[in-house]
Amino acid sequence: MRSRTANRSGVVIRRRVTPAGDILLSLLTPQGKLKAVARGGVRGPLASRLNLFHHVHVQVYQGPHNDLASVQQAVLEGALPTLAQPERYAFAHLMAEFADALFQEGEFSEQAFDLFAGALRGVAHQPDPEWVALVMSYKLLALAGFVPQTAHCARCRAPEPAHPDPLGGQLLCRDCAALPAYPPDSLDFLRGVVRRTVRASMDAPLPAAQRPALWRALERFVTVQIGNVQSWRQLVPHAQAAATP
Ligand SMILES: [Zn+2]
Repeated sequence: MRSRTANRSGVVIRRRVTPAGDILLSLLTPQGKLKAVARGGVRGPLASRLNLFHHVHVQVYQGPHNDLASVQQAVLEGALPTLAQPERYAFAHLMAEFADALFQEGEFSEQAFDLFAGALRGVAHQPDPEWVALVMSYKLLALAGFVPQTAHCARCRAPEPAHPDPLGGQLLCRDCAALPAYPPDSLDFLRGVVRRTVRASMDAPLPAAQRPALWRALERFVTVQIGNVQSWRQLVPHAQAAATP
């Protein structure tokens, strides 16, 4: 393979500092996810630019033998300072980890980038960041090809299920279910969120009391379909509280 230099612009969705002082990064870009390393970056001027959720323009060098691209330069293109607020930070971190789990390197997806960037802006600026994160999580899942089944019971295929599926995060019919049915507006959300526009869902937020059950369903669905989103329990205070018996 030839060595080459490339320019990319994207949002930092993962950042880890190694004991040697390198910064390991994942960026979500309109051309897909990019993993790179800023060697010795933690001691240089790149450190403050390559922060989580920063939108950066990077020049990366892909050597002939090492498979991880190395960051040569980084220019900050945009930051969302309000994401530092603890409540917003938790949801932004969750969205970033979610995007990292959902989208793979080399998958070209301008739509995924736009949706994710929109989700981060919403979490940064909307008065109800939890609702933004819940809606956008379902939209990101659907874009990656994971759509919870809502037309049929996940166990027996009976039509119009309305009860929580505590194992798979989908829906169960009355005969298969052990838990009471979802309230009508939660059910309407689960059936419609993938198809509806983000705007329509944002305009119809569910009451806080109904959200823990939706977070639980989402967590189960993601765990079964994609794998563990590591920081889920620490990051979503409501889901954590709801999961405690
Ligand atoms: Zn059933």
